[in-house]
Amino acid sequence: MALVVHKYGGTSMGSIDRIKNVARRVAKWHNAGHQVVVVPSAMSGETNRLIGLAREIMPEPDQRELDMVTSTGEQVSVGLLSMALMQLGKRAVSFTGWQVPVKTDTSHTKARIQSIDEEKITENLDQGKVVIIAGFQGISEDGNITTLGRGGSDTSAVAVAAALKASECLIYTDVDGVYTTDPRVVTDARRLKKITFEEMLEMASLGSKVLQTRSVELAGNYHVPTRVLSSMTDPDIPIEEEAKSGTLITFEEDSHMEQTVISGIAFSRDEAKITVVGVPDRPGIASQILGAIAAANIEVDMIIQNQSINGKTDFTFTVPRPDYNRAMDLLNNRIKAEIGATDIIGDAKVSKVSAIGIGMRSHVGVASKMFGTLSEEGINILMISTSEIKISVIIDEKYMELAVRALHKAFGLEQM
Ligand code: ADP
Ligand code: ASP
Ligand code: MG
Repeated sequence: MALVVHKYGGTSMGSIDRIKNVARRVAKWHNAGHQVVVVPSAMSGETNRLIGLAREIMPEPDQRELDMVTSTGEQVSVGLLSMALMQLGKRAVSFTGWQVPVKTDTSHTKARIQSIDEEKITENLDQGKVVIIAGFQGISEDGNITTLGRGGSDTSAVAVAAALKASECLIYTDVDGVYTTDPRVVTDARRLKKITFEEMLEMASLGSKVLQTRSVELAGNYHVPTRVLSSMTDPDIPIEEEAKSGTLITFEEDSHMEQTVISGIAFSRDEAKITVVGVPDRPGIASQILGAIAAANIEVDMIIQNQSINGKTDFTFTVPRPDYNRAMDLLNNRIKAEIGATDIIGDAKVSKVSAIGIGMRSHVGVASKMFGTLSEEGINILMISTSEIKISVIIDEKYMELAVRALHKAFGLEQM
């Protein structure tokens, strides 16, 4: 007997029939003698719908109230799933984040989990019940409902698994594992049987939304065995088969079995690039620009400072596209005059494409292959950034899918 955490995403919970299927799958694990905690997302489209309602009333919604609204999607899911289990003759009980409680910091709409009280969960598991906990939400120390950012149910599930020292966290979704790139963009992408935690972290943070980045960080910090697998299979397939399916995130480099240099290609469509032109080249300028951007809670990603000519330089950086207008306003209305820059140029139609692989540590020539491939396709590279296990480029958004396909092929990632 083991204690397992199951997480089901929006599509997996997307209709009454799908919820009934989830209940059958969960019941199968419970019937086999396992203790099961389930963390579902809201039904697909529901969180977007709730955000839409809020925006109809307040275009830039108050963040506390927005959390109050968006957290309801998961409350509906947990109740429905609990009833579906009861209909199968199972004992089940659902909890919202605040009932557990899942304690978070106070950053509304992007809160971080601080601790999870396991008492109520364990007590109910010991009574033989399936415990269902609303994903994506928690309660802050000042007693407000918080949410964990889009895709946050992954993080809720891994955090619950860490708190309960579960033997595995199974992330059930609408694809059957982690692929070499998004299988919706490259149809011959290949499913990885295993991926190292470090690679998964890069994949997630560079745009592969199959797992929320924070969930991968938590899996790494607490060594939670985590598997991504399909919720679309027949719920009655044998557990032994299901338990081996999908993609396992591993913590040892030598489990990097496939010995490939590049494990995956990630991309993020929603980037924007800003150049501050004609900045006086003196100490403190970068911190003045970036400090003001950070104070506005805007995350800066890639940064380039050009060589200075006649004491002036250009300073370029990228921000998430949803923050682009705010960043431009801030620079034009305040920073430009403060630092004596000549101009602010923005481009909100850029994307980021990255090649990721721990094999890069021991292989040279990945960068030249990547740049060569893009050049053969006539794709101009606007910015580059590298780390030990990844290379990212910023390109015009209209070439993004072409770049992903070309790189996926060039690095030999297709299905055999
Ligand atoms: P859920 O609702 O279950 O949380 P998400 O939509 O958040 O599901 O994540 C699953 C989706 O992630 C897939 O449908 C797929 O399009 C996308 N995705 C992006 N990159 C990858 C990848 N490398 N491997 C698998 N899926 C990926
Ligand atoms: N329902 C939330 C969202 O749509 C959380 C999740 O699905 O993980 O972002
Ligand atoms: Mg998700």
